[in-house]
Amino acid sequence: MTTKLKTTYETVIGLEIHVQLDTKTKMFCRCDNDSDNAEPNTNVCPVCMGYPGVLPVINNQAIEWGIKTALALGCEINPMQRFDRKNYFYPDLPKGYQISQFFYPVGENGVVEVDYLAQDRKTKKEFKLGITRLHLEEDAGKLVHAKGATLVDLNRCGTPLAEIVTEPDIKSPEEARAFLQELQRIVRTIGVSKADMEKGHLRVDANVSVRPKGQKEFGTKVEVKNINSFKFVEKALKYEVGRQIEVLENGGTIDQETRGWDEKNNQTIPQRGKEGDIDYRYFPEPDLPPIYVSEEQIKNIQKNMEDMPSLLRRKAEEFGLPYDRISELQDIATLEYNPLVGYVKLMGSNPGLDPVKVVNMLIKILALGRKEDAGIKITDDMWQKALEIVVSKKDSFTAKDSDIEVVAKSILELEKEVVERYKKGEEKLFGYLVGQVMAKMKGTAEPALVQQILKKLLTK
Ligand SMILES: [Zn+2]
Repeated sequence: MTTKLKTTYETVIGLEIHVQLDTKTKMFCRCDNDSDNAEPNTNVCPVCMGYPGVLPVINNQAIEWGIKTALALGCEINPMQRFDRKNYFYPDLPKGYQISQFFYPVGENGVVEVDYLAQDRKTKKEFKLGITRLHLEEDAGKLVHAKGATLVDLNRCGTPLAEIVTEPDIKSPEEARAFLQELQRIVRTIGVSKADMEKGHLRVDANVSVRPKGQKEFGTKVEVKNINSFKFVEKALKYEVGRQIEVLENGGTIDQETRGWDEKNNQTIPQRGKEGDIDYRYFPEPDLPPIYVSEEQIKNIQKNMEDMPSLLRRKAEEFGLPYDRISELQDIATLEYNPLVGYVKLMGSNPGLDPVKVVNMLIKILALGRKEDAGIKITDDMWQKALEIVVSKKDSFTAKDSDIEVVAKSILELEKEVVERYKKGEEKLFGYLVGQVMAKMKGTAEPALVQQILKKLLTK
């Protein structure tokens, strides 16, 4: 907004996030939990389709992962957890109720300390976010609107979800995005979800309100739905905050409503008006026993817990790596590998390495073989080799041009098929070839030189 505001406002945001747990089977039946490539309504059984008289059975993996996720978010774990029925009708929910946890969720009262790189790409910012609760529930099916009709696909029915509700502690769209990215890193680190937003593994609803600075009472909150990427989270929330301030500045009032993000027109649009408090008539699920969690069970899960992303960042900082470089390393993580894990390990076991030079080398080596660049999957093994190269050679490239040329020629001979594809226009494969030469040279070759020599050989 360019005009000067009459009042200074502050933003209040709370999030409700659904994380799809990547268990082998669904929450209460033996159906495969992965329906990505299945025909509609083929990955179903009487339990998840809600036939009368069937008996759900609890998936223990989901219970354990629920506890693990809650612990990773700093929650207190309830020693007794119980499933409840949430009653409502919708065409994608054939049972007429969803099995959820209302009275006794997995965990409550968590805190996550989030640090992130500000938009200037230099400054480190920090904030604390309270986690109200984490509970488990089953997903519903999907409605598909096509050719003037609405179809229903029940494959997703019964998929385990962890619902995470945060306190309204978030003060800007930037913070909301930072937390969601951290949450994605956390659930990937502990291996409970792929947490791909575009694929709906991580779904976000945001409650947004603004209030004059200093006012104690919250402003009227608007729920923003349908945000399916990190980029849109920030965009949608920025738009909504701006819209609310504009309404208030013009003397209007905010309607309590649900709005959806319209990514084509870059705005939030009204979806539903205030419905009042819907009474879901929760009651304990009579077909499922309560779950008792012992101290010992919790300790066991805690003991085997991976290092959290925030701990890895702190350790990297202690080794002397500037925060923007930590962030850079973290940003190239994929589902398969997290460079920060290896970096911290490497620095810990090789005192005397230059923290920045090591990252420079790793980024060079990794960037050459990255999945997105070459269409080739980086494996743990390749990553391990990259680390070994760094350790063995520190920062010295000793290979001569002629040595590199000999190796490059042999690789091109060996990778004829890739060379063919490259010449047909798959330019991204160049990185793969560079990576192969680098690996063969065991890190003695300067990457820029390898590129130069390969280019020369390939254009012959
Ligand atoms: Zn089933």
